[in-house]
Amino acid sequence: MSKSGLEEGERCRIRFELGMDYLRAGLFDRAEEVFTGLLAMPAQREAAAAQLLDIYQQEKDWPKAIDCLRAMGGKGRRGETLAQFYCEMAQAQRAAGHAREAASCIDVALSHEANCVRASLLAVDLAVDRGDFPQAYRCLKRVEEQNPRYLPEILPWFLAYGDQLAERRELLDYLDWLGAKYKSAEAAVAMASLIARGEGLDKAADYLSATVASRPSLRGLHALLGLLCEQPAATPHLFVVRQSLQHFVVNSHNYLCAHCGFGSETLYWRCPACLHWETMRIRNDGVGG
Ligand SMILES: [Zn+2]
Repeated sequence: MSKSGLEEGERCRIRFELGMDYLRAGLFDRAEEVFTGLLAMPAQREAAAAQLLDIYQQEKDWPKAIDCLRAMGGKGRRGETLAQFYCEMAQAQRAAGHAREAASCIDVALSHEANCVRASLLAVDLAVDRGDFPQAYRCLKRVEEQNPRYLPEILPWFLAYGDQLAERRELLDYLDWLGAKYKSAEAAVAMASLIARGEGLDKAADYLSATVASRPSLRGLHALLGLLCEQPAATPHLFVVRQSLQHFVVNSHNYLCAHCGFGSETLYWRCPACLHWETMRIRNDGVGG
């Protein structure tokens, strides 16, 4: 760098490499300084901005990551990534007890990507926090419109809050409709759990056996056997059959990254292995399964 007579282009390339060395050494502050300086150099601008974006994401400095991504111009999945950054901020604001700030981050996330399921799920959290269950229900229903792949994510809410979300008949009709539209065994199983609570095990078993007869699925069958095992007349054989079936029933919360194949029991909005956003998919997503 101190050598005289170097061309400007050569000098920039050396500075970029210096920045990469700082990055590899974990000296983020110094790397940030070098790459920020290079933003003024047209030849290095794009590469430097990409490195800065990476640094801000690692440091979870979402406001800077947002500015950086905006400055990089519209490309690829920019809207979806911006929405994820705003969701990260919303999550942090909620954790800090700033519900109003969290809500406005969610609104901005949805303005960048109307189909951001994560924003809707965060909105459900906020609505439940303040006891606004009708709003929580509206946000849960929005997930189906945004991306039915994520339907299994909303079902635990129905089980946890049931009648608080909406009038019982409305809830049951909605779950029944979801199950039929997406041939979702998981929706049918959630529906059967609600019926079991309100109308008893027999009615729930009636519903599930009718569903399994019209839309055969291992998950539905497994849940039906579970209900039958709870009946007083259940024979030991029934338990054995259920136990054996367990091995074939894929856990619904089993996720795979569509980009790198990383598998996990938890849904990560950013794959911990390849660091891509929104690439985790439910292995057997219940839609058609
Ligand atoms: Zn991945």
